[in-house]
Amino acid sequence: MGQTRLLTEHYDKPEFQKLDGYKKHGGYAVLPKALGMDPKAITEQVKASGLRGRGGAGFPTGTKWSFLPANGEPRYLLCNADEGEPGTFKDRLMMERAPHQLIEGMIISAFAIASKKSYIYVRGEYDYSKAVLRTALDEAYQAGYLGKNILGSGFDHDMDVYSGAGAYICGEETGMISSLEGLKGQPKLKPPFPAVKGYLRKPTIVNNVETLAAVKYIIRDGGAAYRKYGTEKSPGTKLFSVSGSVVKPGNIEVPLGMPLKDIIFDLCGGLKPGRKLKAVIPGGSSAPVLTADEAMKAAMDYECLAQMGSMLGSGAIIVIDDSHSMVDLLQVTLHFYHHESCGQCTPCREGTGWISKILHDIVAGHAETKDIDLVKKISEQMMGKTICALSDAAAMPAISFVTKFRSEFEQHIQAAKSASGGLHHA
Ligand code: SF4
Repeated sequence: MGQTRLLTEHYDKPEFQKLDGYKKHGGYAVLPKALGMDPKAITEQVKASGLRGRGGAGFPTGTKWSFLPANGEPRYLLCNADEGEPGTFKDRLMMERAPHQLIEGMIISAFAIASKKSYIYVRGEYDYSKAVLRTALDEAYQAGYLGKNILGSGFDHDMDVYSGAGAYICGEETGMISSLEGLKGQPKLKPPFPAVKGYLRKPTIVNNVETLAAVKYIIRDGGAAYRKYGTEKSPGTKLFSVSGSVVKPGNIEVPLGMPLKDIIFDLCGGLKPGRKLKAVIPGGSSAPVLTADEAMKAAMDYECLAQMGSMLGSGAIIVIDDSHSMVDLLQVTLHFYHHESCGQCTPCREGTGWISKILHDIVAGHAETKDIDLVKKISEQMMGKTICALSDAAAMPAISFVTKFRSEFEQHIQAAKSASGGLHHA
């Protein structure tokens, strides 16, 4: 069993990073076709393809584009390249191996939504990605793929790279817009949604790197052809970042709906020698964890994972073996969310800090069994009450870890008590 390389077909060729090499493998051949189409027909093809946002939320891309008001107001396209979800490293690969693929997809998407200006908002730590993209943008301007009257079509479009400053919350679309506006990168209440009032209070579409790159292939082959891959409700291919206890970690591209066990045991070479599967986080650190039994039954598509109480998220598969402590893992996860909470909402600000402290006490051997229940109770109070989804993103793994691996938390607390002779440390 192999990968299905639609977007990543030429990623092994170093020349694909540069304009000449990209063109040698069909690069910028779809752009003239797209610029000759009715922009509405491009959106219709994207709708027909069933493409869903690859950043985490999985919202249908064509439908999102349709939310833009019909008037002639300036509108912006914003590429979310602030890849911060722990375990995820696919967008980085796409920007560094194939910057023109993203740029071509963005020009086509910008033409479809009548946007004259776009930004690629890149995670602050991704210095090399930014450098590669800036070189590629220079090449694209010189070749006439960006700027005024692109390829004689009458369509003008400018594109820039914008650097984030290392805050996870700027990956949330309204937080990203605030940051791009020069404000503190804090999420805003929705509605209004960015498609109505976004960057500079103008209509704005925010799409992930992988989503925008896929648009090129949908226009090249047609929306129906894209549906050849994947399942009926989750069409297309998807890049997954596989990390943890597998022999061959890395990024892979496969059709949506592939069994998780095939990804782990065939494509990624199985577990490291002598190790047994304990759990899998299927969609980045926000996704509820699956037990080994659940993972063996899971298919990597939006519907199956939702039915199992988890989610596809950003496509980061974190494989956990029997040598890892679920207590330690949850503690570092909650420490991360507490650190990254922007502090606007009380349930998120206080909840992440409180749980993080309890978990720290559990790890340090200063906790009681009832503290496990407290973690769950606090987490449940953090769900669905805040401006953005970070609060839920912290609560979901906490609930799933302490529910599915409760005995491990109990054993950890008991072992620490026995070691200290039953003394409770205040
Ligand atoms: Fe900030 Fe957390 Fe509220 Fe999101 S949920 S806006 S990160 S405090």
